[in-house]
Amino acid sequence: MGSLASATPNRRLQGKVAIITGGARGIGASAVKVFHENGAKIVIADIQDAEGQALAKKLGSEDVYYIHCDVSNEDDIQNLIDTTVAKYGKLDIMYNNAGVLDKPFGSILDATKSDLDLVIRVNLVGAFLGAKHASRVMIPQGNGCILFTSSACTSIAGLGTHTYTASKYAVLGLAKNLAGEVGQYGIRVNCVSPFGVVTHMATGGNEGVKVEELEQQISALGNLKGHVLKAEDVAKAALFLASDEAHYVSGLNLMVDGGFSIVNPTLMIRASNQIQ
Ligand code: NAD
Repeated sequence: MGSLASATPNRRLQGKVAIITGGARGIGASAVKVFHENGAKIVIADIQDAEGQALAKKLGSEDVYYIHCDVSNEDDIQNLIDTTVAKYGKLDIMYNNAGVLDKPFGSILDATKSDLDLVIRVNLVGAFLGAKHASRVMIPQGNGCILFTSSACTSIAGLGTHTYTASKYAVLGLAKNLAGEVGQYGIRVNCVSPFGVVTHMATGGNEGVKVEELEQQISALGNLKGHVLKAEDVAKAALFLASDEAHYVSGLNLMVDGGFSIVNPTLMIRASNQIQ
């Protein structure tokens, strides 16, 4: 208690040390910027070394550092956590955000075991290893915040491939079970679960994709009209969960989906058509 009163406005992570996996691009890179603006010391962990290093350099601060880390490799994760603690003395926030999509949509008949292996290896094993090694440091500390990027596909069917959806449900299950264990040590565990955001994952790195057009198409499929979901919006939801403002929030799957996953408009549309 009392942490809200001591938080400096607009510097909501002042004095905190955060690791953000998948921080070189997309939602992770936005989280790096937003957490940095809010006063956190940050370690960016990714396999895209050039982009990760460029982002750290651009932010131009002693307080943003890049480490090469394949989240599916336990030695890399161990090194990431140990280097962070050696450099900054503690770990307050572990944001397990790195993720991959195997394919665009398709039938189960076209899905392969290697598609499943890929998403499980990065999305689930990576999240598990990050959570495990962060807990190794946070449990003796007696506090901490573990975050995951899951997906709105954990709340409604049809948003992702079967393989990807299975991996993101697994992340949510891990987060909830972990919240049940580590609450006794003052550690909070939460997920942030976005609807579609146009990042490298959505474009598949195809430079021919017109970002604004794709954003408009995704937005048109959404529930909340007149809004476009950007990576920064997801980063701001993660900021809330990471900050002391959420000091009693644990075990939450925070949907950043404009209400998409709770609405089945079929009946409403039928009813209003009949009324007209
Ligand atoms: P992105 O492709 O822009 O970024 C993903 C980042 O993860 C990249 O920097 C990539 O290099 C990194 N990464 C991939 N494999 C890695 C590994 N083995 N080790 C370390 N880093 C690795 O995609 P994004 O949209 O920013 O995705 C971020 C997270 O958000 C993912 O977990 C994704 O599943 C989730 N998500 C995205 C959307 C969306 O529509 N973009 C929706 C819901 C959830």
